[in-house]
Amino acid sequence: MRIALIGNQNSGKTTLFNILTGANQRVGNFPGVTVEQKLGNLIGAKNVFVIDLPGIYSLSPFTREEVVSRDFLLKEKPDGIINIVDATNIERNLYLTMQLLELNIPMVVAINMMDEMTGAGGSIDVHRLGEMFGVPVAPISAAKNEGIELLTDMIVRCVKNRRTPTHVDFYSGAVRRTLYSAARLIEAHAAAAGIPARFAASKIIEGGDPLPERLNLTENEMDILRHTINKMERETDARSDAALADARYEYIKKVCSESVHKIRETRGQIRSVAIDGILTHRILSLPIFLCVMFLVFWLSFNIVGKFLSSLLAEAISYLTLTVNGALIAMDVNPVMRSLAVDGALRGIGGILAFLPAIAALFFFLSILEDSGYMARVAFVMDRFLRGIGLSGRSFVPLLIGFGCSVPAIMASRTLGSERDKRMTISLIPFISCSAKLPIYAVFIAAFFPAHSAFVMLGLYVAGILLGILYGFLMNKTTYMGKSAPFLMELPPYRVPSAKSARRLIWMKSKDFISRVFTIILLTSIAVWFLRTFDFRLNMTADSGQSMLAVVGKRVAPLFTPLGFTDWRAPTALIVGFTAKEAVVSSLIVLLGEERLTDIFTPLSAASFLIFTLLYTPCAAAVAAAKRELGSAAAALKLVIFQTCTAYAAAMVFYQLARVLC
Ligand code: GDP
Ligand code: MG
Repeated sequence: MRIALIGNQNSGKTTLFNILTGANQRVGNFPGVTVEQKLGNLIGAKNVFVIDLPGIYSLSPFTREEVVSRDFLLKEKPDGIINIVDATNIERNLYLTMQLLELNIPMVVAINMMDEMTGAGGSIDVHRLGEMFGVPVAPISAAKNEGIELLTDMIVRCVKNRRTPTHVDFYSGAVRRTLYSAARLIEAHAAAAGIPARFAASKIIEGGDPLPERLNLTENEMDILRHTINKMERETDARSDAALADARYEYIKKVCSESVHKIRETRGQIRSVAIDGILTHRILSLPIFLCVMFLVFWLSFNIVGKFLSSLLAEAISYLTLTVNGALIAMDVNPVMRSLAVDGALRGIGGILAFLPAIAALFFFLSILEDSGYMARVAFVMDRFLRGIGLSGRSFVPLLIGFGCSVPAIMASRTLGSERDKRMTISLIPFISCSAKLPIYAVFIAAFFPAHSAFVMLGLYVAGILLGILYGFLMNKTTYMGKSAPFLMELPPYRVPSAKSARRLIWMKSKDFISRVFTIILLTSIAVWFLRTFDFRLNMTADSGQSMLAVVGKRVAPLFTPLGFTDWRAPTALIVGFTAKEAVVSSLIVLLGEERLTDIFTPLSAASFLIFTLLYTPCAAAVAAAKRELGSAAAALKLVIFQTCTAYAAAMVFYQLARVLC
């Protein structure tokens, strides 16, 4: 038994999905968080599956995620639908409900956010509402876990009894007549194509939908349809799609006037309008955003991160010493001891210490997102992104890019046009992903401890500015043109849920730890091996004679113009292609007892930071880009372009700074 969750964006589908299945999907007070369908098992019912789908406003697909949801309904034919309706936005949400009813699939309408509705003194007569639509209705609050049992009961019973929505006459007059005659005319074709007749009829009347082509209508039938539709347009004095939409809204209004008692705007809505006056202010919005981000970095790194990370670092170095001592006491072979201590433990430990800082960063970002602030930023950014021919829609993948480029590149799939998608993917590498944070943090702590939050924010902003410049150039050359219009509904401000923040921190930490113990561990051991042995597999007394050094010294001259005089710097950068954290872990392993200040000056350290900010995305991101762009050549171009940009930027910086300082 498969049950699909369908509803408008931001109506609480994923929140409900997580409750129903115990899953940990990402919830965000931000339209467009869910871009793919997710399957989960209903808790307590082995053979019932729940599917979370992207939010849609209607069954006429405009964007890719709407296509995902609609295709699922029509092609995969779920056994039941839970239609989630946001009680605080009920009229618009019910528009989708009316279209879903035409599909003739067992369905329950779940009116969500009842807590906000009742908080504002409103109420809903669910029986009357259900009667007028011909479906069972359940009031719930997904975030507060209220009414969920009743809802699951209802839908399971509906599906078991194959109870499809009761047929109710929504329309009257010309629209009703046209719908009926069209449905009757195409009935046989629709049945053959496996599409509900009423649904197909309304799509034909709306026009502009490729679906009716699957019906194989004869020329003659098409003529009759065209004629009936023209007649309706004359009678209603409106285009057919508008006439149908009007008729739907009219019925919704009638339903709401009889069953919904909205006393006043919800408190949240009043509050949102007031806050928006400031946060989306034409001039103030950008400085406010920069201040907020500064605060986030400062809190993550200088307050929470610094304290917890230094505790963790101490614990790790204590552990390393203890293990080392124990291995010496047990008289373990020195090569094996070096492998465990100088390779594995040092590499892992150097990265693991950043766990608190990264968790804190994601905690603050999730609060910003959950509160609804990030949606405002997307709205404000629309203005700037238009300047480079993109829209605020691209802000969503770019924002995800602060976490990791791989999901960011995947999220660009939701963008309206192919052009927007390709351009956004080319810009994602300019956004510093969280894997680069350990690199920044280590270098900043060693060279610029007095201005850490500033340098950190500066790196982020520099990347973004260069990205904007590049976008501007692309818009003037390869990707001329305009972006698709950006329509986004601003969700109300909400108090961020602790559960959602906890979930995010847990997921990010798990992810981070598993990376540390897989890819970072492996690269650390590989680097240890290559820097400990020479080509004849003899252990070298001094790492300067090792395999890695011999090769690294060949490559190193290429990087002297950037100020990296020691072979270990470029070597670490190359290892960093596997994962950006590996730049730090391999530097630690390579340096052994030496310190960063032995091989870098503050100037060359800054140049190194600029290089890491811009150079090629990691292997996983390149693979994702190849998948989304559809060709290895395009992904390779991305790698070459980024690396050349990084090289040029770092060299220009270093040479200029050397002359000036
Ligand atoms: P989706 O886009 O439909 O998947 O919606 P989400 O599940 O991501 O939720 C959107 C926002 O609504 C999040 O900020 C949730 O915390 C919030 N939310 C979900 N259900 C409720 C509810 O019952 N009451 C309130 N007040 N907020 C809710
Ligand atoms: Mg969702």
